[in-house]
Amino acid sequence: MIRSLLLAFLLSLQAFLGALDFDVVVVGTSPISLLEALYQHHTGKRVLILESASECGGAWKSISVCGVQHADLGCHQLGSDTRMIRFLKETVGCEIIPMDFPDKLPISANLGANGFYFVNGCYEMIRNIKKMISQTDMVLLLNHPLESVYVDPHEPKAIIRTQGLTYSTRKIIVTPCSEIKLENHPSLPLDRQTTSKGKYYHLYMLIQDATAPRFSYLNGRGEGISRMMNLTHFVGLDHTGKQLIVLQVHGDKYFSDAHKYMDHLKKQQLIEQTATLIQTESHIYEQPYYNQSLVTQMPNGLQVFELLQTGAIASMGSYISKWEMAIVPLNTLAGW
Ligand SMILES: Cc1cc2nc3c(=O)[nH]c(=O)nc-3n(C[C@H](O)[C@H](O)[C@H](O)COP(=O)(O)OP(=O)(O)OC[C@H]3O[C@@H](n4cnc5c(N)ncnc54)[C@H](O)[C@@H]3O)c2cc1C
Repeated sequence: MIRSLLLAFLLSLQAFLGALDFDVVVVGTSPISLLEALYQHHTGKRVLILESASECGGAWKSISVCGVQHADLGCHQLGSDTRMIRFLKETVGCEIIPMDFPDKLPISANLGANGFYFVNGCYEMIRNIKKMISQTDMVLLLNHPLESVYVDPHEPKAIIRTQGLTYSTRKIIVTPCSEIKLENHPSLPLDRQTTSKGKYYHLYMLIQDATAPRFSYLNGRGEGISRMMNLTHFVGLDHTGKQLIVLQVHGDKYFSDAHKYMDHLKKQQLIEQTATLIQTESHIYEQPYYNQSLVTQMPNGLQVFELLQTGAIASMGSYISKWEMAIVPLNTLAGW
């Protein structure tokens, strides 16, 4: 509350004082972006995080769907990189179980051949990182897209614009999925800098099936399906007689095929033969692509912009060594 009031006061002061200055501006709130922002903070930088969506997490955010809260957006796999798993447990405070054994068994050397996952889905990881951020003086602005950037041609500095506000910074940390537009690009005016976007289609099916879930994560398995996940354990629906299944499908034309997919899942014995469909809902995730060639053509562009590698969650493996030296673990923070 006090921090929000302080932020509102600082932002209103901006009109009189000119652009507020941050050492680092992080664009986007997927896990690697948020953890890098925390790292920058703990190495003494003043950090601003901008997110155009109303929630943190990017492709790892959770949504309310079919009446169920905190369900993963789509299908996810953490993999089995033991260093990353240990970091997520010990520093980010996540409770992690083997993907194939969602019965809350402890991790041991023999389990987890098909990777690990969060007991409460990706909601747990983002919730914990947000708690870590809330214990700092970092500024996190949701519903604030980075609209445009003016890169100073004389020194490695930039002015950024979001929601009618301007900030100055020396470093803008982006990912391959950050949408960026440059005000003073030498050859392309702002209105010709278009961003292409990838679309990911998800069909959620809430079903009546009192048996235990028979899978957590599977690739393919049917026409139009890229992968599927049974979210029942991760959203706390165990022992309710209901299961929540999400299919990542190849396009919105498959959103009307829920009854066909029910038959398909029954044929493969992935759900009980008597299972019935209660409700369906669809969700499309749009992911922009960062146009690095725009940046490389700018004087000082490569000094101002820093690109994180985020292609897969396991990409965090290349940052963990430095993060572990600075980021304060969640379980050591006051009030945890
Ligand atoms: C549906 C889906 C499921 C995936 N599942 C897995 C998986 O299971 N395992 C795996 O390893 N990888 C997975 N991936 C790959 C995934 O892309 C990466 O794991 C990771 O999320 C990429 O992080 P990112 O920040 O680059 O992009 P995103 O996760 O898409 O996040 C980008 C964020 O930046 C914000 N943003 C973009 N431009 C701006 C701007 N101009 N101003 C403010 N905010 C902005 C967006 O709103 C978004 O929140 C999945 C991807 C998708 C789309």
